[in-house]
Amino acid sequence: MVSHTRDASSAIDEKRIVCTLETHSRPEPAHVRDVLQKARQAHGLEPAEVAVLAAADDPDLMAELFDAARQVKETIYGRRLVLFAPLYISNMCANECLYCAFRARNREVKRRALTQEEIAREVGILVDQGHKRLLVVAGESYPRQGFQYVLDSIATVYSVARGRGEIRRLNANIAPLTVDEFRQLKAARIGTYQLFQETYHRETYKKMHVAGVKADYDWRVSAMDRAMEAGIDDVGIGVLFGLADWRFEILALMEHSRHLEARFGVGPHTISVPRLEPATGSHVSLSPPHAVSDDDFRRIVAILRLAVPYTGIIMSTRETPHLRRETFALGVSQISAGSRTNPGGYSEDDTEADAAQFSLGDHRPLDEVIRDVASLGYIPSFCTACYRLGRTGRDFMDLAKPGEIKAHCDPNALSTFLEYLLDYASPETCAVGEKAIGDILATMPEPMRNHSERLMSKVREGQRDVFC
Ligand code: SAM
Ligand code: SF4
Repeated sequence: MVSHTRDASSAIDEKRIVCTLETHSRPEPAHVRDVLQKARQAHGLEPAEVAVLAAADDPDLMAELFDAARQVKETIYGRRLVLFAPLYISNMCANECLYCAFRARNREVKRRALTQEEIAREVGILVDQGHKRLLVVAGESYPRQGFQYVLDSIATVYSVARGRGEIRRLNANIAPLTVDEFRQLKAARIGTYQLFQETYHRETYKKMHVAGVKADYDWRVSAMDRAMEAGIDDVGIGVLFGLADWRFEILALMEHSRHLEARFGVGPHTISVPRLEPATGSHVSLSPPHAVSDDDFRRIVAILRLAVPYTGIIMSTRETPHLRRETFALGVSQISAGSRTNPGGYSEDDTEADAAQFSLGDHRPLDEVIRDVASLGYIPSFCTACYRLGRTGRDFMDLAKPGEIKAHCDPNALSTFLEYLLDYASPETCAVGEKAIGDILATMPEPMRNHSERLMSKVREGQRDVFC
């Protein structure tokens, strides 16, 4: 049972996870189909039901799993897909995570912490590409100014204004903080605080994190408890897939999610599904101990979609365009695009690739990704309305669960997509995008359609940042 007072370090129970997986390791097809039928109601699943789906690998059942995930994704998220870019501000790190190029003892990577001027330059380039949402990322060491460096960097990001563009929501993927530091992060107007446990399997965690503060599993796994205590109510959890058995990890993600929901009344806002990619100076990254195949990756996304239907799923440019296309339909709600994982990478355009964290699977610029997404029938969205209207945490979930959030999301997705088309898109993308908007409107029910058209006419008349 989940406790209301303990933090996640004692609430996530490895023995219970292993026992649930063993109990359901050979489910009857009829049992799998019962679970899938329940999953189609989009009310989420119990850990035992997740274990049943994770154990089913017959091709027919797989096809039914993917079909159920497509249905739930379509019902809750419709055709929209939120876009963001990571902003790496520093690759200096005191930890020794064996899979990461930024690990302290790796001499093959050039170290760099961007100055505030350099950060402003990077942000200017991303704003000029059309981005509205960024994720600030850093190694775990801020040599000169300490944590203040992160706070200053956030202020710099929000201070950049270029023509009709600016960053409207900045999320953060940085090392765990104390409650007091999390309060400062919230005051700095951070959107989601994101942190991946990497692996919930303690023995594997110990082997992979051999030095530095990050070697302390409990300090990391309890970070979201401290963030929520400090009032940050949008948190994003995740696993680095490839380190331990993926079935164990998805059950642990569920336990983490249920713990936060029981303790704070709201679960995580997002779950990220990074897969281990080759990184300079990391043997582990070249031969992951539990490599996840493309098929299993699709299963992970589909099962998570059914298990926690209202939690966003984030996929990064670690994955190839082909796999990304296939996985959108299964439940992904946010993707990064046009990414660089080396500090200064947007200004210097790959000249410092020897400072990158890992190699990317999708190298396409934002415009090309948007064209592709739109031609597949999705609405690329830069919406930041919920965060700015204070519809976060429990308020967001209270709208999301009865399905009311869609009335806001779809019009806002269309108006921010139109902003992108008018202000930044290439003529080719503009043509594909305008057609996609027409197609979406044609199938949209009233009054949502009318609402969307009103928002979009404001954008066509020259207004920006209109939302509902
Ligand atoms: N340093 C902080 C930390 O470790 O939480 C935050 C930034 S770290 C650069 C962000 C994430 O990158 C890590 O949580 C890890 O999951 C991911 N990562 C590290 N090495 C990777 C690799 N070789 N392939 C894919 N993702 C990787
Ligand atoms: Fe440092 Fe984060 Fe890389 Fe670990 S994953 S070495 S903490 S940057």
